[in-house]
Formats: sequence, structure tokens, C-alpha cells
Amino acid sequence: MNPRDIDTTQRPFVLIWEVTQACELACKHCRADAQERRHPDELSTEEGKQLLQNARQFGDGQLVVLSGGDPLARDDTVDLVEYGTEIGLRMTLTPSGTGSLTRRRIETLADAGLRRLALSVDGGSAAVHDRFRQEQGSFDQTMQAAEAARSAGLPLQINTTVCAETVDQLPAIQELVAELGAVLWSVFFLVPVGRGRVLDPISPERAEGVMEWLCDVAADAPFGVKTTEAPHYRRVALDRRADGSATSTPSADGIGRRTGITAGDGFAFISHRGEVYPSGFLPKSAGNVRSEPITEIYRSSELFSSLRDSDALRGKCGACEYRHVCGGSRSRAFAYTGDPLDSDPLCSYVPEGYDGPLPTQSEPVVDPTTAD
Ligand code: SF4
Repeated sequence: MNPRDIDTTQRPFVLIWEVTQACELACKHCRADAQERRHPDELSTEEGKQLLQNARQFGDGQLVVLSGGDPLARDDTVDLVEYGTEIGLRMTLTPSGTGSLTRRRIETLADAGLRRLALSVDGGSAAVHDRFRQEQGSFDQTMQAAEAARSAGLPLQINTTVCAETVDQLPAIQELVAELGAVLWSVFFLVPVGRGRVLDPISPERAEGVMEWLCDVAADAPFGVKTTEAPHYRRVALDRRADGSATSTPSADGIGRRTGITAGDGFAFISHRGEVYPSGFLPKSAGNVRSEPITEIYRSSELFSSLRDSDALRGKCGACEYRHVCGGSRSRAFAYTGDPLDSDPLCSYVPEGYDGPLPTQSEPVVDPTTAD
């Protein structure tokens, strides 16, 4: 299956299932506001397998990410990976860097058919990473897990959060990503959801500089580079291509993950209780998999349909000539305005002739604990 052939009105490229919110860590940026214990109303193993069956109806090779919390806080994770693989899904996992991520467990997951392991690195050294993750030893455990994944032949993805506290670490993290032999570096630009509400975002001008720098990294790196919640990376790359200063543009990462997907358009998120959100950072429910198949919610819900219509965007993003290739982060627009179709305040670009209000990264207005 060529990722470029996917019609994102009919199926997501990436389907993320937050199997639990339970996690030993209390990371500062945690979207899930992870809890110590598993929620009693989590989707059960049987409900989860039914969900995977329904996800299979999207078509061959559907990519499913088991996320959390820490997905390894559930005791059926290997079973779910094995089941998903057996029915034809491409199963991947984003575990937390904790002691439960042992070499043996990673080998078992690889044997069960896992296609990729994604680990978070938010600092170029143990001191910085552990401070951000609020857990002594997390960096070392993550490095050991990365090495174990490599030994088990599991492709590795590194996820990094960009905010005021971590942005200076990016060059050091980039070196680590190369040393670890990762196939993809996923650079997530902070959206103030969950515990991430207490962190400071970088300014739009700084974000622009980071994206320029990421274009340079992507041109030479032995791994793919993608941004999350920063689709203006595509505007930056397109502009560089237009003026001849780029040697590559974001397209695909070489392992089958396509760029150019955004909340609700190529991307869907299922919460631990079965609520379906356009993204984990846009906690507005379009339905629940306990009462409706994920295929139906993704293809037909009003929320998902509106997010796939870039001509429905409002404000600066609605007036922007890049809205069909970028469209801004719908999650960030929702966090700061309560309207997922409003403008993304992390973007510094002002469309020519636009004289309407400019969005700002002031106080977020959406409380994820009360969002539906
Ligand atoms: S104004 Fe909106 S659509 Fe235009 S480049 Fe910025 S984020 Fe993208």
C-alpha cells in the first residue's frame, strides 16, 4: 500500500488507541494527565479486539498505534498486538520509559508482530530528560529500551516535545536520534492540553526558526523527520523549495508513514473509554466506539467532516493561500479558542491582504477535563 494513495476522507492513515491512562511517570507535558491506576471503565480486551476488527474494515495495512498512559500498564498488550497483526493491521506501540520496558518484553512484542516502537526523548542528557519526565532513571531506561529494540530488529521512532523548556535541547537530541539508529524523529510542538497546560510554548517566530532548522536536518539525516501539531512545516518547506534553498521537502519518511495528515484528516484518536477524537490533543468527541463503529464515526461524523474541509476554516487560516497544504493545528486552535476551525496561534505567517484579528497564545480556554 502506498501511503500517498490513501483517501483520508475514507480512512485515517494513523489510528491511535489510548489503551489506558495508567502510567508510572508524571511527565510535565502529558496530554493524558496520566494516572497511577487503570480506569475501571477502560475498553476491555474483548471491546479492544472488536475495535481492532472494526479498524480492519478501513482496508489493508491499517496503521494502529497503541498509546497511553503507558500501554504496558495493561496486561493484555502483547495479546492485542498479536491479534491486530493476525487480522492484518500494522501494530505499533508508544510505551513509557520505565522499568517495565524490559529487553524480554520488547522481544516478546517483536515476536507478536509489532512493527515499530516509539520512545520519547525530551533532553539530550539524563539530567534534562529526567527533570522533564519527573523520574530519575527514565533516560537510561529509554536508552536501554532503544538498544533492545535495535537488537530485536524493531524499527525505532523517537518522539520529542518542543516547548520553551526543551527547545535548546533539539540539536543534542538530533544527535541521539542518529546514534540510536532511529528511522523517524517525530517532533511535537506543544499543545496546552492535560499537564502540558503548565508548560510555556515557544513563540511563533522561534517555531519558524525551528522548522527552518528541521528542514536542514531532514535534508541530511539518516532518519525521517516529521512534525506533529505543526503543519506549517509544510509551508516552510514549500517556500524553501520555491526559492531553491531546500534539498528535500517533507513527504514520506521511508517507512510508510505519510506526512500531510492532521486532526480528523488522516488521523483519529480513541480514548481509553472509547471516545473518538480527531486527535489526542483535540479532546472533542465525535462518538464512542462502544455504540458506533470507528469507520462510521471517522467517515461520517460532522466534526471529522468539518475538519477535512479547509475552506471551512476561519480567521487567518481561512484566508490563507496555504490552507489546503497546511491548515494549521486544529488542536491548538481548539485549545486557545474553543473552536477547532479557528486560527493556529503558533504560525507567524500573515496572508497578504488579511486584516482580521491575529490569534495569540494567551491562556488556553479549553479545560480538557470538561471538554466533551
Ligand atoms: S495562517 Fe494557518 S493555514 Fe496559513 S500557514 Fe499559518 S497555520 Fe498554515
